[in-house]
Amino acid sequence: MSTKRALITGITGQDGAYLAQLLLTKGYEVYGLSPRRSNNDSGATRLQWLGVDKDVQLIDGDLTDLSSLIRIMQQIQPDEVYNLGAQSFVKTSWDQPLLTGQVTGMGAANVLEAIRLICPQARFYQASTSEMYGLIQEPMQSETTPFYPRSPYAAAKLYAHWMTVNYRESFDLYACSGILFNHESPLRGLEFVTRKVTDGVARIKLGWETELRLGNIDAKRDWGHARDYVKAMWLMLQQETADDFVIATGRTTTVRDMCKIAFDCLGLEMEKHLVIDPAFFRPAEVDILLGNPEKAKQKLGWEPETSLESMIEEMVEADLQRLSSRS
Ligand code: NDP
Ligand code: GDP
Repeated sequence: MSTKRALITGITGQDGAYLAQLLLTKGYEVYGLSPRRSNNDSGATRLQWLGVDKDVQLIDGDLTDLSSLIRIMQQIQPDEVYNLGAQSFVKTSWDQPLLTGQVTGMGAANVLEAIRLICPQARFYQASTSEMYGLIQEPMQSETTPFYPRSPYAAAKLYAHWMTVNYRESFDLYACSGILFNHESPLRGLEFVTRKVTDGVARIKLGWETELRLGNIDAKRDWGHARDYVKAMWLMLQQETADDFVIATGRTTTVRDMCKIAFDCLGLEMEKHLVIDPAFFRPAEVDILLGNPEKAKQKLGWEPETSLESMIEEMVEADLQRLSSRS
């Protein structure tokens, strides 16, 4: 059998790096869409962290530029396309709503269109999100729960989700939408709450900071590990027929309790350092998310392998090590 070729958009992000690593271990040729940035050195940091930067091929292109996507599809003729590229930070989406719509929403439509025109046999994965449930309509969210997006980011992702479903139903593409609940790792962006907390706790331990400033610590999330979640992405593209799946742990925790786990890891007292800062509250909040991964368990044989506690511990240790090596 010939080697499979995969194209990953967002390969320099958290999930892109873990997915590239997974696909390489499975013998794939891995290509990544690489938007131009002025600082080219920083682009592949996460791939370097996992030791796979030399094994993937980055190709210049941007999700907002259909012509670049068409050129790349012609050049690579991929078997599988994973659309992970996005403006992915919810809070920024209120400040840059149109850019978020163009990259996170229209970007997915551009990829689908390039596939339809150039390589309709390619299998497509769309990185959908639990944020689409927003103001939740059911206590535990599954594939049949109605959506109610609460941010420009979630609205853009909902468009991308429905375009994926529509391209599957209209053009018979093998197109899947993975509705992934929050997933984290030592490679998570520093603006997201788990990584902000683990980095902040490590700084306090080293005596560099005394405070950790957060917003709404009553919000609850269903947090899993990115390494586990990229396996589900791959599994979705290996089935007989394309379908949509919720990927979650089935456990929800407050930001406060997640934060406590991080402080406890380093023997610090959270109450002495945590400061609530209105600057980190959002114009609209998603108060609670809790996913039901039953369909993924039954049909994909997928289960989360990492507990919240061990993931936070891994992140705290990685941040402590990373910061210590700088001092
Ligand atoms: P990251 O923010 O870490 O990565 C986003 C990636 O998108 C980066 O590689 C970024 O490149 C790239 N990108 C941004 N703009 C463009 C553009 N115009 N053209 C091409 N690429 C672009 O996200 P994650 O890895 O955490 O998430 C992966 C996907 O999954 C995202 O779509 C996210 O919205 C979605 N998702 C994530 C969840 C999570 O909890 N992590 C939950 C559910 C869905 P650069 O680094 O150069 O800016
Ligand atoms: P999101 O679920 O994609 O928005 O992921 P985040 O990690 O950005 O936020 C998760 C939850 O943590 C949200 O309900 C935020 O309001 C809450 N939160 C509380 N304080 C902070 C903070 O300082 N930064 C971030 N990013 N989120 C915070």
